[in-house]
Amino acid sequence: AAKAAGGNRFVFYSRDMTERAQARLRLEGGLRDALASRSFELVYQPKIQAAGGRLTGFEALIRWRHDGVPVSPADFIPVAEDTGMIVEIGRWVLDEACRTATRWSLDHGPVRVAVNVSARQLADPGFADLVEQVLRRHATPPDLLELEITETVIMKDVEHHLPALSRLRDRGVRIAIDDFGTGYSSLAYLRRLPVDVLKIDRSFVNDLPHAPDIASTVIALAQRLLLTTVAEGVETDEQRRWLAEAGCDCLQGYLISRPLSADAAEALVMTAFAHNDVLPMTA
Ligand code: C2E
Ligand code: MG
Ligand code: MG
Ligand code: MG
Repeated sequence: AAKAAGGNRFVFYSRDMTERAQARLRLEGGLRDALASRSFELVYQPKIQAAGGRLTGFEALIRWRHDGVPVSPADFIPVAEDTGMIVEIGRWVLDEACRTATRWSLDHGPVRVAVNVSARQLADPGFADLVEQVLRRHATPPDLLELEITETVIMKDVEHHLPALSRLRDRGVRIAIDDFGTGYSSLAYLRRLPVDVLKIDRSFVNDLPHAPDIASTVIALAQRLLLTTVAEGVETDEQRRWLAEAGCDCLQGYLISRPLSADAAEALVMTAFAHNDVLPMTA
């Protein structure tokens, strides 16, 4: 690299850069091992109906411990994207979420599970095939599965993503736009996209109730387009009340529940069905 930089210039690596590069390599190595040994875990965060509080489903969130220390997906998913490992990790996540949703639905009743899909996964030409394969493998009713795609990812190359998303949605898979409001959605595209759900980004929920403009606008837009709204990151009772009054459909956040282990989530599913406290999926 020093030569390629040309001339007699020295390339100087500060200690800081070296340490960062080493930390990054350790993270990559750890991810590779975790992938080989499938030592990731999924946790499940409940979503509830804003009016009435019935359970409407879960979002599956990946967890990883590197040498015993939990690493945030916000830190390792980008590395998995860069290295391409996300494709295999994403396949594992889909498989595990579908397996679990199918088992819960057989043992207790139908409850939907949402899975996050990253840019590179969606860009993979085999993505729709992969999803269908996983659904077949577990005999999962497609409407048990929801795919969460962030607004910036879906809008970046709409024309390119449209066929795969349309195909999946035609099969019955639900599509949600995650972190909605943070990107630059073209309203014209939004109307054409095969989408069922808008998830209001946590930053706008955080602004409630004192700065409600964006949340109000997203809810109005969704109502106009007949889309379901989910508010993410609901932490206070004031936020919950504001959202319910504004007509937001569903709530997710620490106020309702932290993400739960698979066992704890299943216990919740069981109790909810026992008390008739689950929103029927057709609604
Ligand atoms: P996201 O999909 O927007 O997920 C919501 C994040 O907000 C989760 O963080 C969740 O634990 C957190 N959260 C939920 N309620 C609250 C709340 O009331 N307050 C606050 N402060 N945070 C809340 P997490 O699990 O750390 O995931 C971060 C991001 O990493 C996710 O954002 C998603 O983009 C990505 N991610 C997580 N799991 C997966 C996965 O399996 N595959 C892919 N591709 N990405 C994933
Ligand atoms: Mg999400
Ligand atoms: Mg989100
Ligand atoms: Mg988010």
